[in-house]
Amino acid sequence: MPAGAIDLHTHSSVSDGTESPTELVEAAASAGLGAIALTDHDSTAGWSEAEAAASATGLLVVPGMELSTNFGPASVHMLAYLFDPSDAAIVRETARIRDGRLHRAERIVERIAKDYALTWDDVLAQSVDGGTIGRPHIADALVARGHISDRSAAFESILHWRSGYYEKYYAPSPLAGVEMIVAAGGAPVLAHPGTRGREWVIDELNMGLLKDAGLFGLEIHHRDNTPSGRDRLFELAAMFDLQVTGSSDYHGEGKPNRLAENTTEPAVLERLLAAGHGAVPFGG
Ligand code: AMP
Ligand code: FE
Ligand code: FE
Ligand code: ZN
Repeated sequence: MPAGAIDLHTHSSVSDGTESPTELVEAAASAGLGAIALTDHDSTAGWSEAEAAASATGLLVVPGMELSTNFGPASVHMLAYLFDPSDAAIVRETARIRDGRLHRAERIVERIAKDYALTWDDVLAQSVDGGTIGRPHIADALVARGHISDRSAAFESILHWRSGYYEKYYAPSPLAGVEMIVAAGGAPVLAHPGTRGREWVIDELNMGLLKDAGLFGLEIHHRDNTPSGRDRLFELAAMFDLQVTGSSDYHGEGKPNRLAENTTEPAVLERLLAAGHGAVPFGG
């Protein structure tokens, strides 16, 4: 196991982080971390660049993704580690999610453009080619136009789900997500499942179903989980024998979250590396 801190949830510019996979790996290595996971939203497009960057450092990079799922009206994020990135179901489903995100973002921008000077090209200018588009790129375009000060302010106003501009996007159910990740040799972990208003979205019955399908763990140590949400998640982890992870959800300059502000125990990483067999970790 690596000696430095273990941070299993980070984003690059392949989705809504602000650093390239290379810059992200270099930032983690120079900060003295032992391991990170690259978990861009609904995409593995950063894996090969991260692999090349990891081999030049001592950092262990666990290939991963943050899969979007929908549970009724709620958006539920699911971390997926060490799955086969060429698995046909994963390739098909993530392409469908990214396409849905793209058209949904275009419609959000159309609505915003009725009230603010903003074009689709402004948004494209904030994202990389073929990357996963989300509200953070619309936020960056609003900042570039001078309509708002930063991403956080945009999410509290124009991009809020109650703003009138918002809409959801297609995503599979959490159970379908777990099944798909496990079938591709991966290990699924529910991302920040105890955030405000979301603590009770996945009830005991459904947590049991996810566990039966192969859920590996719960990301309990995350800044967005509330104290009561964490208490409840620890109970569920004990009840269903789920692993406990912690991570930063680093987005570069896109969020205040700093690398390794929350971390995962080495023993849990060891179990994760044993559980995920659809891909091999990079560097280390
Ligand atoms: P979307 O996937 O398009 O619905 O946008 C949600 C994404 O925006 C999440 O992945 C978060 O990382 C990011 N996000 C949510 N709230 C904020 C915030 N207050 N500041 C910056 N980024 C945020
Ligand atoms: Fe994000
Ligand atoms: Fe998330
Ligand atoms: Zn994330």
